[in-house]
Amino acid sequence: MKVYKTVKGLRKKLDSLESQGLSIAFVPTMGALHEGHMSLIQIAKKQADIAIASIFVNPTQFNNPNDLAKYPRNLEEDKQILQKFHCDILFTPSVKEIYPTNQIVAPKLELHGMDAVMEGKFRPGHFEGMLQVVKRLLDIVNPRFLIMGQKDYQQISLVRLMIEQLQLSVKLIQGDSVREIDGLAMSSRNRRLDPIFRKKAKIIYEALMYCKTHLDKMKPSDLENYCGKLINEAGLKTEYFEIVDAKSLKKKSTYTTNDKLVACVAAWAGEIRLIDNIAL
Ligand code: AMP
Repeated sequence: MKVYKTVKGLRKKLDSLESQGLSIAFVPTMGALHEGHMSLIQIAKKQADIAIASIFVNPTQFNNPNDLAKYPRNLEEDKQILQKFHCDILFTPSVKEIYPTNQIVAPKLELHGMDAVMEGKFRPGHFEGMLQVVKRLLDIVNPRFLIMGQKDYQQISLVRLMIEQLQLSVKLIQGDSVREIDGLAMSSRNRRLDPIFRKKAKIIYEALMYCKTHLDKMKPSDLENYCGKLINEAGLKTEYFEIVDAKSLKKKSTYTTNDKLVACVAAWAGEIRLIDNIAL
């Protein structure tokens, strides 16, 4: 695996690969890699000739400085994991490399309020920063395929909207959420959970499954409240539990069998904020 720290070095390599007609699939990450990330690398390897991952903890998408400071970083371990999964190229830019001037702003988009609900309500500025870095990385890497996880459902929905509105030529592919044996979605943040909260955290998936199996038995708002209560009673603190339209992310007060819905949740397990979702 080749590792590049600079845009210039990476572009030189990619220009040469492109001139040979090789296709590129890109997996952007913030590091502290786990099997969830590796499932995306595997998709990238299947889709294209070259799989490229980036590790960049993007400061502009952290509204909480403490979260940014404590974000787990372990580049050497990450490199070994990527190598094991036959990732071809790793891009590990510095902040200066990604934001050489303050000219690089979030693209102007009509987000239809999709950035203001759920995560957007609790993490002001998060999606603006996320779109800013994804656009910048796409400009640098210019991949044919962009591989992202369903785990961050609102994130991938907004990236899809950006690709549509800016008519970018990249094809977005969504990878399923990879879970621990007890159902907890894998996340870089899980390694910061203390053992007691780690055990309790499986309630998040259990509540999502409860929601899925009781969709036709309860009113949406009652079901949301009940699932939030299940999580709270297990010792976590639910920030939101919402059943939303899979495309618009708007809350539904009634639904029909034709509706495509997703249940999304954020909850605090002690000091650690976890998110998850399930297609209903
Ligand atoms: P992150 O490093 O947390 O920014 O995540 C990088 C990419 O990995 C994003 O597209 C995430 O949605 C995806 N991802 C994170 N956790 C998982 C998981 N458990 N299963 C599948 N994809 C994931």
